[in-house]
Amino acid sequence: MPENGLDRDEIERSMDELASGDIDWRRGRTPLYVFYANEAVYEVGKRAFNKFFSENALGGKRAFFSVARMERDVVSMALDLLHGGGESTGYMTSGGSESIFLAVKAARDWFRHRNPGMRGSLNMVLPYTAHPAFNKAAEAMDLDVRRVPVAAGGRADGAGMARAMDERTFLLVGSAPCFPHGVIDPIAELGEVAESAGAWLHVDACVGGYLTPFVERLGHDLPICDFRVGAVRSLSADLHKYGFCPKPASTVFYRDAEDAERSRFDFDQWPNGAFSTSTLVGTRPAGGVAAAWAVLNHLGAAGYTAIARELMETRDAYLEGLRQLGGFDVVADPDLTIINFRATDDTDIFAVAEHMTSRGWLIGLTQQPKGMHLMLSMKHRDAREDYFNDLAAARDDARRTGSRGTVSASY
Ligand SMILES: *Cc1c(COP(=O)(O)O)cnc(C)c1O
Repeated sequence: MPENGLDRDEIERSMDELASGDIDWRRGRTPLYVFYANEAVYEVGKRAFNKFFSENALGGKRAFFSVARMERDVVSMALDLLHGGGESTGYMTSGGSESIFLAVKAARDWFRHRNPGMRGSLNMVLPYTAHPAFNKAAEAMDLDVRRVPVAAGGRADGAGMARAMDERTFLLVGSAPCFPHGVIDPIAELGEVAESAGAWLHVDACVGGYLTPFVERLGHDLPICDFRVGAVRSLSADLHKYGFCPKPASTVFYRDAEDAERSRFDFDQWPNGAFSTSTLVGTRPAGGVAAAWAVLNHLGAAGYTAIARELMETRDAYLEGLRQLGGFDVVADPDLTIINFRATDDTDIFAVAEHMTSRGWLIGLTQQPKGMHLMLSMKHRDAREDYFNDLAAARDDARRTGSRGTVSASY
């Protein structure tokens, strides 16, 4: 810590200098991490965030009534999109990991309530492609995880998951879509498996929750992956991904109010009396709530649908680019806007990735199979030509040198 603090300009200059070596997301050079729709959405979110910069969403009930109101509005707009019925409810959280943690906890408590006296550790059954946040929650709550290989096409294998279950399986998970391959799991089929086994079904729509409703509107044929599937008891959807809201902002939803209560924490054995939260964290940035409210209201259904159309067109243009380039094919046919592709010959795709990295791109990788990974947003539309020029050159470099990439997939 400096003895004498720096002034604002010095601080800004130092930060610019620190950021000068970062990967430039504004030029579409990050394949994930930042989700961008357009300049107006960006500004609306930023201004709303700053307007509620100091308020604390923890104080929504006692001080910042506006923040609690905005959170209820966000939840109810989202539940409309996701076909939550009259009893469904939910909360805003800091991110997909927290949403998943809460759903896992609710599922565990629901299962314990229905199976009093059951001994031994409980387990959850997931497709191999599910997000690591489930394992993180399991580690924290001392639960077992069984990951099951996916079927051809990259989707969860319902029959295989059914075989992996036993009487202590409290939770089944499907993704909409999964992060690795970008395909939506057969949620209706998983619903039948969950129901017949007395397990809870969670849909991890962290990526797609705020995209699939609009892609459906455009007439694309997607597997049903929300509360229309009767067995779905909870669902996670990230506002800070394809909701295009500033971080941190996610949502977790429950079919029943009673289940939603299971993620609440109540305590009064300390000097200050009753303490109650509906999510994992205590203090929460009101900025995230306000910004989500602002962005949802700014875009409206028509705005989201327009962006969904542009995104799907961008996706198709990338797929076409890959076809034209040759030497690559997709690991799975993407339902939405994640593209995972591999080399069709013996070119080492991790070597291609290395050559892309030296051209200033951050490259998303998958390990099984070895592939490159893109989660598209609107910054990638303008970057497409550069991307494919560099990809062609990187592929040729990799072929010419016959090199093997030493990069490893890490997130
Ligand atoms: C991003 C993601 C998560 C976790 O969300 P965070 O906001 O990063 O905590 C969970 N599931 C899927 C499918 C994701 O893509």
